[in-house]
Amino acid sequence: MCANLPKTTRDEPARPVDWLLLDADWLIACDAEMKCLRGGGVAVEGDRIAAVGDSAELRAGFRGRTEISLAGCLLMPGLVNAHTHAAMSLFRGLADDLPLREWLEEAVFPAEAAFLSPDTVYAGTLLSALEMLKGGVTTFCDGYFFEESAARAARDAGIRAVVGQGIIDFPAPDQPAPGRARERAEAFLSSFTNFTGRVRPSLFCHAPYTCGPETLKWVKAMCRENRILFQTHLSETAGEVENLTAKFGTRPALYLESLGVLDELSLCAHGVWLSEAETAALARTGAGVAHCPESNMKLGSGTAPVPLLAAAGVTLGLGTDGSASNNDQDLFSEMDTAAKLHKVFGNDPTACPARQVLKMATSGGAAALGLGEVAGSIEAGKKADLVALNLGRPHLAPLYDPVSHLVYCAGRSDVRFVWVDGVQLVADGAAVGIDEAEILAEVNGIARRIAKK
Ligand SMILES: [Zn+2]
Repeated sequence: MCANLPKTTRDEPARPVDWLLLDADWLIACDAEMKCLRGGGVAVEGDRIAAVGDSAELRAGFRGRTEISLAGCLLMPGLVNAHTHAAMSLFRGLADDLPLREWLEEAVFPAEAAFLSPDTVYAGTLLSALEMLKGGVTTFCDGYFFEESAARAARDAGIRAVVGQGIIDFPAPDQPAPGRARERAEAFLSSFTNFTGRVRPSLFCHAPYTCGPETLKWVKAMCRENRILFQTHLSETAGEVENLTAKFGTRPALYLESLGVLDELSLCAHGVWLSEAETAALARTGAGVAHCPESNMKLGSGTAPVPLLAAAGVTLGLGTDGSASNNDQDLFSEMDTAAKLHKVFGNDPTACPARQVLKMATSGGAAALGLGEVAGSIEAGKKADLVALNLGRPHLAPLYDPVSHLVYCAGRSDVRFVWVDGVQLVADGAAVGIDEAEILAEVNGIARRIAKK
């Protein structure tokens, strides 16, 4: 398998490219066929993958300005964190072991009201971006307040991101007057010079229980007009489903469908309590679901019907949720958890096999974010978002099935190299171009103020 290799003869010079990554023990493309190559490599030109294939053929066709041997490594597409609130890293471990409502109302909302500002959101998002990059995550989908700051942090870190400005029918840290949410959304969108870059805007209706039908409709209309992702939390707890169903006479996903807010550029986070009819509605409309197993487990919210969603053809991504409810941004552990949770929940060892989970964490997540043509797999023409793992570790030997290893054995500390848009952001496990000590000092300073209060 060698895509887009130039035909060269003895007389033709090899085509110069920026990076030639060669001789990976394994290359997992995470494309539609989930191809696994031995001894494969990738040619990267600018921000894109120029070719993928056998290393000998790549050597013959290309000359890399920088060439790296990935012998002893596994090369894969960067992971996609399909749902998070990156700046909530500021509240990591602030309150644990509480029910969702109590956790939100007694810990999270007061801390957000007191401490969120453009500067703290920037610092918290940058910390999460650093954590994600070092853990092999090259794209994240965010939803929070002061999202201009989240966008700036993502730009500065070099990571790919879809950043969703939070919209809620109550006073919020960056919207003291909720009646002016439309102006807030417009101001947020106008802070972007374009909507198709590495960092893209989105609008995030917090949930159908905090955003009324009119809000949901105008936010989706604004998203449609600008061809950007619409996000919402959906059916995270049984209690909210009960209340919404009583209020609107129909279950939440069917209610959203009736409002016309579900389509291929709609992403629903959690989707824990979904009926069969709701699963069909999500499949029918093309809306994606970001599955967040560790957050759902930690908050005791329940187990999303992922095998049923997958069987119905719903586009599925995998997310960590914010660090206040997880408490990390580790997509390797999230894959392991997802693969095992549905086996024990359904008493079925065949549920959520490794391939399905890896797809959720890569191409599935990218598709759910509207980035299916851009990221999530190693294919010629796609953006060069790549991760190389060091296989020379005791917990990774022997290796019979690399996909199984990625889900059940590998961890984020195995990440050796990371590229986003063809730019190397992690080399030999260390962040490149990001001052880690400075970020940690800044966040620890904010945390001291939070702890004091
Ligand atoms: Zn969330």
